[in-house]
Amino acid sequence: MSKVVLVTGGSRGIGRQVAIQLAKEGYRLLINYNKSQKEAQETCRFLREEGYQVEIFKADVSKQDQVKAMFDFCMDRFGSIDVLVNNSGISYEGLITDMDEEDWDRIIDTNLKSVFLCSKEALKHMISNHSGKIINISSMWGQVGASCEVAYSASKAGMIALAKSVAQEMGPKGVRANAIAPGFIDTAMTQQLSEEIRKEWTSKIPLRRGGTTEDIANTALYLASDLSSYVSGQVIQVDGGMNM
Ligand code: NAP
Repeated sequence: MSKVVLVTGGSRGIGRQVAIQLAKEGYRLLINYNKSQKEAQETCRFLREEGYQVEIFKADVSKQDQVKAMFDFCMDRFGSIDVLVNNSGISYEGLITDMDEEDWDRIIDTNLKSVFLCSKEALKHMISNHSGKIINISSMWGQVGASCEVAYSASKAGMIALAKSVAQEMGPKGVRANAIAPGFIDTAMTQQLSEEIRKEWTSKIPLRRGGTTEDIANTALYLASDLSSYVSGQVIQVDGGMNM
């Protein structure tokens, strides 16, 4: 039987591309979405037409009961979970002094608590299979910190520490956990920025271009595969050389 991957936030952007490339590599695929039902259905239809085995599931990954229902669905449909890609995320821009508790909780719950909830559910099955891979889509801001993105940066740093801790704790059980730290990737998240800011960022990147969703998906493909069988607890920076 081919392996099973669950991609959180696979409806759009980076997650969608990761999902597509893993399906094309032969993985059976569960795409999680929360708000973008139409986009998730379109991706699912497109992949099924190409002959791939794909399901979609609506769940707010910051909510324990919804995460549990999603993993129950995954086991019911596919009977396994081999790779978990923790990709769902939201951003928030503003001064720390203007940020209220509600916004802080929303960012941390969506970006970090979700990784705990999903990893915990996935690990139950990975431990009994003595095999599994967890891939956290963090950010370069989780490594260097970003002005006006305190909660986002803290959540992304937390995703890195969580991957390293899971790698330490679950390595003896045959599970690998790693993080990817993308730089400036062209998706809805960065399209919110003005053209001027986007140009300014690009001028600071040694490779002089923003990254593509394919750049991140290729790295996820590597971390999911046996090509990375001795790689665990690492952060792979995919940022055109922006942070070195
Ligand atoms: P995006 O286009 O805005 O997509 C965000 C995804 O997260 C969507 O699929 C969305 O699903 C999902 N999501 C948000 N809240 C959710 C929730 N509560 N439950 C389930 N899914 C939820 O962003 P992106 O650029 O592809 O970013 C993907 C990941 O890469 C994020 O974690 C982001 O922090 C990280 N990243 C991005 C960049 C960049 O430059 N773009 C750089 C570094 C790191 P719905 O629309 O269905 O709700």
